[in-house]
Amino acid sequence: MCAVPIADEHSHVVNMAGRQLMCVCRPCYLLFAEPGAELRYRAVPDRYLSFPDFRLGPGRWDGLEIPVGLAFFFRNSDQDRTVAFYPGPAGATESELPIDAWAAVIDENPALSTVAPDVEALLIRVPNTGPAGAECHLLPIDACYELVGRLRRCWRGFDGGQDARAQLDDFFARVERRSVARPDGGAS
Ligand SMILES: [Zn+2]
Repeated sequence: MCAVPIADEHSHVVNMAGRQLMCVCRPCYLLFAEPGAELRYRAVPDRYLSFPDFRLGPGRWDGLEIPVGLAFFFRNSDQDRTVAFYPGPAGATESELPIDAWAAVIDENPALSTVAPDVEALLIRVPNTGPAGAECHLLPIDACYELVGRLRRCWRGFDGGQDARAQLDDFFARVERRSVARPDGGAS
């Protein structure tokens, strides 16, 4: 974005036109983090939340029509809709999201509505044991794409296989450590 060399640890902005993530230096990042900043780029925040009261009612996950037990969801403000992506050997695949089914999940978990459009995502994992053990995190969108990249390199077969599960466990452990719990009663 500018001529300043970028450190290994750096922030990202979303280029709204092409939906690409761009690596930026700190001053550029802060420029686009300003409320009311130019809307062509949006700074990706560094917020991680967990939702201890998160629940998926019977049939909710099936209703979302995600073919695997993991997906991330974010609001695309250009298209004025929530989109869903799930990981696999080809990277992130978009899943056509039934709007009513997603609205029902948000209705049951009002704390989730705090997610910022375009730059934050909700990552939901449903274990093989069923939706009763499902967990949900709010995290920066760049972290979701990082996870997708890690999984693509080791994904085997339909469900990802052992290596992908190990990568996932490692990723969720890191997310869990960084997350601040947001109980449903505390939703603003
Ligand atoms: Zn810069």
